[in-house]
Amino acid sequence: MSDSPAVDLAALRAEALECVRCPLARSRKQVVFGEGNPDAGLLLVGEAPGGDEDAQGHPFLGAAGKNLDRFLAEIGLDRSDVYIANVVMCRPPGNRPARRAEMVACASYLDDQIRLIEPRVVIALGAAPTKRFLGMEATVAGSRGRSHRIGRAVLVPTYHPSPLSLNRAPERRRLIQADFLLAKGLANRDL
Ligand code: URA
Repeated sequence: MSDSPAVDLAALRAEALECVRCPLARSRKQVVFGEGNPDAGLLLVGEAPGGDEDAQGHPFLGAAGKNLDRFLAEIGLDRSDVYIANVVMCRPPGNRPARRAEMVACASYLDDQIRLIEPRVVIALGAAPTKRFLGMEATVAGSRGRSHRIGRAVLVPTYHPSPLSLNRAPERRRLIQADFLLAKGLANRDL
């Protein structure tokens, strides 16, 4: 691990692909580093890779990824317009929730991606990234629908687009749509 901050995304990615900071390094097939437009005004953060992502090395590939693509399309965007990352870059075994120590171990990789991309708006997809940015007491229900300043960007929390999340509460679809629209408006505005 190098002590000096990575100067570009390629260097950061190369460092991340070798990461052994937490025990997920032993069970992962591969590190799923963020990807998308390095000049994006909008950066989306999910929780952690699942099985498909672990096997193929890209974020949001499965059913949650298809839903995410639809929510992006509804605001006139696709993946080439945004950057997509996760709180934790390696799959937790059996898709269990990422542990706090794993999020802490991964924290500088996400912070560095945000520092290098300088998005105006970060969308937190679900509880894990919402807590990661706003503190462990924060909930999606209590923080969504508005923006929160985080450093030089603003955070828009929303629900996770996985089928599990949407089936649990079908009205979430409409709430996610509203949050994506809010985020797009903020990304296009001088903050
Ligand atoms: N795939 C990801 O990359 N992240 C999630 O949070 C869910 C699925």
